[in-house]
Amino acid sequence: MRLTALILLAVLAGACGGPRQPADLVIEGATVVDVQQGTTTSGRDIVVREGRIIDVTPDASAYAPATTLDAAGAFVMPGLWDNHVHFGGGPALIEENRNLLPLYLAHGITTVRDAAGDLSDSVLAWRTQVADGTLLGPRIFTSGPKLEGIESIWPGDLEVGSEADVRVALDRLQAMQVDCVKITENTLTAPLFMYGLDEARRRGFIVSAHVPIALTLDQVSEAGLGSIEHMSYLLRGGSPREADLSGAVGAGRMSPGDALTAMIESFDASTAVATFSRLAARGTAVTPTLNGSRILAYLDQDAHAGDAYLRYIGPGLQKTYEGRVTRAAADDAAAVERRHARFERSAALVPLLQQAGVTLLAGTDAGFLNSFNYPGIGLHDELALLAKSGLTPQQALAASVINGPAFLRVADGYGAVAAGKTADLVILDRNPLDDIWATRGIRAVVAQGRPFDRAALDAMLADVASRASGRSAQPSVQ
Ligand SMILES: [Zn+2]
Repeated sequence: MRLTALILLAVLAGACGGPRQPADLVIEGATVVDVQQGTTTSGRDIVVREGRIIDVTPDASAYAPATTLDAAGAFVMPGLWDNHVHFGGGPALIEENRNLLPLYLAHGITTVRDAAGDLSDSVLAWRTQVADGTLLGPRIFTSGPKLEGIESIWPGDLEVGSEADVRVALDRLQAMQVDCVKITENTLTAPLFMYGLDEARRRGFIVSAHVPIALTLDQVSEAGLGSIEHMSYLLRGGSPREADLSGAVGAGRMSPGDALTAMIESFDASTAVATFSRLAARGTAVTPTLNGSRILAYLDQDAHAGDAYLRYIGPGLQKTYEGRVTRAAADDAAAVERRHARFERSAALVPLLQQAGVTLLAGTDAGFLNSFNYPGIGLHDELALLAKSGLTPQQALAASVINGPAFLRVADGYGAVAAGKTADLVILDRNPLDDIWATRGIRAVVAQGRPFDRAALDAMLADVASRASGRSAQPSVQ
């Protein structure tokens, strides 16, 4: 009898549209941007529950949301990924670095990949706190401290001088549960670089790197390198003499500087496309970080002293900018010219990499040391530079929101505004597929299902500025 009554109720409820399902958030009347396909669909409601998109529908009346967000006339795409950032500058700057997290979020960046620094313990703690909702910021994927040689210039790295050291360092990274491994080449020898790459791969890690001049791009790609960070390392791929010259460096017959110059002088576009096609076939990605290179290359034309964004950067982090500024200021006219030429040649590789099918990752290199490369707006600058260098807006956006998660093997949860995906979204006034500059016109951000409208984002920015200037002592927690 009781069961019959329940069934009857259910039937009646069905006739009136059914009991409405609970939802945390419905974003109403949106135009959904499909970055993969480069298409849009208008008139969609996006239903969010427990941090995930559960439905994208023309009519969300079957849901009873706790909150709604009006997206009429707006374009909704996956939250942006900055696939190369840094946190660092020593323990005294932990708070200033933490203050960068809401700066990313306020610019629509819902995920960052930390590419090593000297505050790994803090970054690992923030990764957890952001994930469990106790810290306001983008999701963090981190390499932890990077592998380097003994007495490298980098603070906070794991310095290795033997194969045993490499194994100990990787044990430590495994214990930290890092998301990938970063290896760089300041003082690390080529044989130990290769050993570290092989051993990290054997343990199942994704590896990103700066490539030693004594190794060719083919050698590291064949060994399973996941990504090459910074476009400057790709120029050598256009030299028909790359293998000879890198061999000469490895044998101690040539200096790294002379070899690099000779490689760049013998650059040839068809050789580059052939090399890059082999990288593509083996799945080695490239993070160009054009924005960082551009800023440093053109410090002679723009000293950035009056940048409005400096208000968001604490005094300690601003001080870390001085080293690169001082070094650039010491360059004579010829050296300045070389900086410009090196940047323009690097940027010109973007269409060649794309043509060859290489996966490009949009990342800024923002953080400590890298002067005036501002967390947040820097990624919008990077996207615009990628587009200016030859990518379509769709390709530039994919380099951020699709290739980023694919590189870290989490593509299932990200990269589309679709049921089952994480509710990390950015809501724009204009269509970013038409004009890459549209990414800057942010109406709202949704991070892990939590909405922040324009007023909330502006309040977040004001708060970051206030903390950066030391006017607020409040910790940046939710
Ligand atoms: Zn970097």
